[in-house]
Amino acid sequence: MIEFRSVRKQYDDGTVAVQELSLTVPAGTVTVLVGPSGCGKTTLLRMVNRMIEPSSGAVLLDGGDVRDSEPARLRRGIGYVIQQAGLFPHRTVRDNVATVPRLFGHGRREARRRAEGLLERVGLPSEIGKRYPAQLSGGQQQRVGVARALAADPPVLLMDEPFSAVDPVVREGLQDELLRLQGELGKTVLFVTHDIDEAVKLGENVAVLRQGGYLAQYAPPEQLLAE
Ligand code: ADP
Ligand code: ADP
Repeated sequence: MIEFRSVRKQYDDGTVAVQELSLTVPAGTVTVLVGPSGCGKTTLLRMVNRMIEPSSGAVLLDGGDVRDSEPARLRRGIGYVIQQAGLFPHRTVRDNVATVPRLFGHGRREARRRAEGLLERVGLPSEIGKRYPAQLSGGQQQRVGVARALAADPPVLLMDEPFSAVDPVVREGLQDELLRLQGELGKTVLFVTHDIDEAVKLGENVAVLRQGGYLAQYAPPEQLLAE
């Protein structure tokens, strides 16, 4: 479970990105932060893995203040997926994913075996593993990004507009895949998008943010009030 307790963020230049805001993300669910560009979604997301510290208030993960965890340790339990998959261009797809189990001390062969299993999980055929990122479509690259984020088997996944850069048809496939994976793996997913349709499709709970960093609504999608 992720809890935002009266968090507020004011950047050094005076911009208030998030007003005092409280929100609970239940464990094992997909919760979506939705709203127009600049309303504070990314700021909130990055408070969870301590890329950004709140100016006041606290973020709790499973009841503990994230400030009590050293960032490197905290991030082992938190996968992070962004719009550009950020793959290493000079490594094959398989080795991009295998890097993570290698960091956890597994041998090369075991790491590759795990990477192959993960690529299969996100719906990529095994021959894709031998290619380099530039040889993949945008949608395939995002799948690799998801596989890499899952490689440490983190209980929490932060996803920041992960599918926004791919075309609508591919995006739908990726959304379906995420829902299927979520059904299998039961991660706690906090998902950022500016697309209300995507929010309604993916979210068990949807937090609607408004310009200026205000929380306008927080409810299951079927209970969201029409604006
Ligand atoms: P969103 O993800 O909803 O597009 P952000 O969280 O990225 O919104 O940004 C919220 C607000 O904070 C915006 O007005 C943005 O310009 C501002 N902002 C983001 N990062 C910084 C920063 N490092 N310094 C100053 N202002 C920032
Ligand atoms: P430490 O050295 O601090 O004890 P570990 O190497 O045991 O850290 O791993 C830290 C976290 O990463 C744990 O939550 C563990 O479950 C997870 N982890 C360890 N090895 C793997 C692995 N091969 N794949 C995925 N997660 C792993």
